[in-house]
Amino acid sequence: MSVRVRLAPSPTGNLHIGTARTAVFNWLFARHHGGQLILRIEDTDLERSRPEYTQNILDGLTWLGLTWDEGPFFQTKRMHLYRQAIQTLLGQGLAYRAYDTPEELEAMREAQKARNEAPRYDNRHRHLTPEQEAAFMAEGRKPVIRFKIEDDREIAWDDLVRGKVTWKGRDLGGDMVIARAAEADKIGQPLYNFVVVVDDIEMNITHVIRGEDHIGNTPKQILLYEALGATVPEFGHTPLILNQAGAKLSKRDGVTSISDFQRMGYIAEAIVNYMTLLGWSPSEGMTEIFTLEEAANHFGFERVNKAGAKFDWDKLNWLNSQYLHHMPIDRLTDLLIPYWQGAEYAFEESDRAWLEPLTALIAPSLVRLEDAIAMTNYLFVSDVGFTEAATNQLRQEGTAPALNGIIAALENTSSLTADKAQEVIQQGVKAANVKKGVVMRSLRAALTGDMHGPDLIQSWLLLNQHQMDLPRLKQALAIAESAI
Ligand code: GLU
Repeated sequence: MSVRVRLAPSPTGNLHIGTARTAVFNWLFARHHGGQLILRIEDTDLERSRPEYTQNILDGLTWLGLTWDEGPFFQTKRMHLYRQAIQTLLGQGLAYRAYDTPEELEAMREAQKARNEAPRYDNRHRHLTPEQEAAFMAEGRKPVIRFKIEDDREIAWDDLVRGKVTWKGRDLGGDMVIARAAEADKIGQPLYNFVVVVDDIEMNITHVIRGEDHIGNTPKQILLYEALGATVPEFGHTPLILNQAGAKLSKRDGVTSISDFQRMGYIAEAIVNYMTLLGWSPSEGMTEIFTLEEAANHFGFERVNKAGAKFDWDKLNWLNSQYLHHMPIDRLTDLLIPYWQGAEYAFEESDRAWLEPLTALIAPSLVRLEDAIAMTNYLFVSDVGFTEAATNQLRQEGTAPALNGIIAALENTSSLTADKAQEVIQQGVKAANVKKGVVMRSLRAALTGDMHGPDLIQSWLLLNQHQMDLPRLKQALAIAESAI
């Protein structure tokens, strides 16, 4: 049978990096085996699920290139299937109605605590007589539905990542609730562990690949597969993503949702590449930079680590910069335009003859797309703002005459080129009678407002094309002269 895997996000938040990484492993596994990836939105938590989160998840997966073959299916649209399956289990005596009140359950837990026992349901309503049930109903109690779990059952599976995993029935907390409380003749809302199994059976899922945080659900789900007469799929529990302190990565660690990474200027190729490396070691001979398709050719669970994977910003930044540095300039320009627009820089989007050289100028220094805003500020704004270092440079002796010489030469120059710029600089050297280095530093301070930045001559040419160089030189000259 061909491989069928699924991705089952809950739309209770934006697409999280952990879910996206699970998506990557499912995608790679499906692709490697020529199988199918099914997308299922687990929206049964009505209070916390929101359509905008579903949209964020769909957009995020699409942006990352994690395409799916079937779905999205929504669990809220499939409630009849779950209720039918519960009816079957009730009919077979594998599930039953339990009428305990919250107070009774609480008292039971307190007593267990007092005896130093782990909390569990003690299965006290497993064998109610029809008379007892009738009496509870007469009291107006609303029953939940519980699935029977035998204490002496041993549940084992051969995990794709972790090898053999074994659980004992008695460690699963007693007979489990599979549907919330409702009138005794109805079936209340079916719960997570149950609906997942019904769906995985109905969708013919062959491999359940998900985060290690679900490992405790797997033994319960295996029992449900058996009770529903279905073949148990294979399971693979992928290691968690950890923060630098070794704890599970959470919102407290800052950015965790894919849309935030996107906004900050990480590109999709770099993120999926990085997420693949978070837990999977590339095969011999592969470099660390690869596309999803390349990884899919080599992907297998034998190279997925058992240990949690630490999220490493430096590594992600490095990968992102590698992608940006090697990207065709026209595509990079397209990616940068929204950032410049967001910063409210004034420019014509159609002015590619100016924008593309500008992109080429900063491309080698970019780590994230967002960096372009600060890096290119001096090329867009009319009032640049001089840093302290630049102001100090402007106030050095020799700067004012050098700038005067440059301004005079520039006013006599039409259409500046790199060669002509060198001639103008020579005029400055002559006028001030200082070393060329002094003139270059003064020129950088004057044109860019800073002492560090991209190539000076290229920057100047770009400023010149927008007639921004002369006004800025004059502004700088005023500062230089005010020091005398
Ligand atoms: N809906 C679950 C989650 O978002 C995933 C369930 C599963 O993969 O079995 O964590």
